[in-house]
Parts: sequence; C-alpha cells; structure tokens
Amino acid sequence: MKKLFLTIISIAIAIFFTYAIYTIGVFSFDELTYPTDYRAVSSYYGFRILYGASNFHNGVDFLAPQGSNIYAAESGIVDYAGFMNDGSGNTISISHDSGISTMYCHTDETFLVSAGDYVEKGQLIGYVGPQYLSSGIMNGNTTGPHLHFMVLKDGYTINPLTMI
Ligand SMILES: [Zn+2]
Repeated sequence: MKKLFLTIISIAIAIFFTYAIYTIGVFSFDELTYPTDYRAVSSYYGFRILYGASNFHNGVDFLAPQGSNIYAAESGIVDYAGFMNDGSGNTISISHDSGISTMYCHTDETFLVSAGDYVEKGQLIGYVGPQYLSSGIMNGNTTGPHLHFMVLKDGYTINPLTMI
C-alpha cells in the first residue's frame, strides 16, 4: 500500500513538472526577453470567453500603461511597422534567426523602427498606444492600453510565456 502511494505521488510530481515546463517554460532554451517592464498579464494565450462566445486569444496581453516602453524580445530584422487592419492596430513585427517571429500590437504612433531595420534583443522599438489613434480610428481590437504580444513559429502562433 505504501509503495502504491509513493508511485502515485511520483507520477503526480512528474505530471506537475511536465506541465510546469510546458506552460511556464521553466527550462526553455530559446529564451526571449520580456517585451515590456510590466509583467502582469490581463489575458493569457488560448481559448477565452469574449462577449459570451469562445474565442482564441493568439497572444498574451501585458497590462502596460499607455506610453510605456516596448522592447524587442530577441534580436532580428523588423519586417513590419505600421497599422494592421486585422484587429492588431499599430503593430511591429520582427523575424528572428531561430525561425520564430514576434509581434507587438496596439502600439502608439511613434514607431522607433521601420521595416528592414536590425534590432538588438532588449532594444526600445516603440510605446504602448491608446485605444483610439489620432485619426479617430480604433487601435485594433482593444478595450484599453495594453501590449498584445505574439510569438509565431512556422506561421503558427505559440504561447509566448513558454518562450520567456
Ligand atoms: Zn490580446
């Protein structure tokens, strides 16, 4: 009986660590740096209920106030810096050597980088934007200032928090 108990405890610990490694990225190898000084998460990657319907959230939302710094999570080449009409609003996208790309959405109108620029890991690239841009249009699907941070691998989004 004691042996069975120990076996169950061992399996539980193994499952916990596997889960921890997978979701929190405890031992991730390709470590990205945080794209903002504000690490509180207002919405995680994955399925969520939005307006009563199930919706897939393809990035992680950091609760960063308007005007706060946005940093390149890894060094790479900027492939886009401008407005995106798909709900992302003002967005900066960077391609990295490791085959992944990172995207920073709902930024303000001060783009510190432009397409083709090389950026260092941790470099200041822009600022968290307002809900409405100066033109009056909405800065993507956003209910208030925050940084929507995305990581893509081979064209598919992955949970950014497994990479940080
Ligand atoms: Zn988001």
